[in-house]
Amino acid sequence: MTEQMPTDAELLAAADAVAARAYAPYSNFDVGCVVLARDGRVIEGVNVENASYPLGICAERAAVARAVGEGCRPGDLEEIAITASPCGGCRQWIYEFQIERVTFKNAEGEVVSRTPAELLPETFEL
Ligand SMILES: [Zn+2]
Repeated sequence: MTEQMPTDAELLAAADAVAARAYAPYSNFDVGCVVLARDGRVIEGVNVENASYPLGICAERAAVARAVGEGCRPGDLEEIAITASPCGGCRQWIYEFQIERVTFKNAEGEVVSRTPAELLPETFEL
């Protein structure tokens, strides 16, 4: 397989594009996310809110859940790109799925890439 893997910028552009499909009528905070699988698949997710607020799901967890439904397991996902900084719960998911690289726009609007351990040191493991 000689096909080139997408760059950080390409993944973030894809996340930006899918954010338009978010369902966020309460916060109006549309978030898009893509995960890059080691086999080259790019799997998308958006945040999905609910009138019962705690039932909403973040774009990152939506994308990872979709990847799992498509057969991915921890270690199968290489990178995740998000249009916003991941929340604490999503950082735990990212760590669990051993996603090597996390690219997102930070609070200052800068594009940064971090490892899961940088985002969530001394992580809970079962
Ligand atoms: Zn989250």
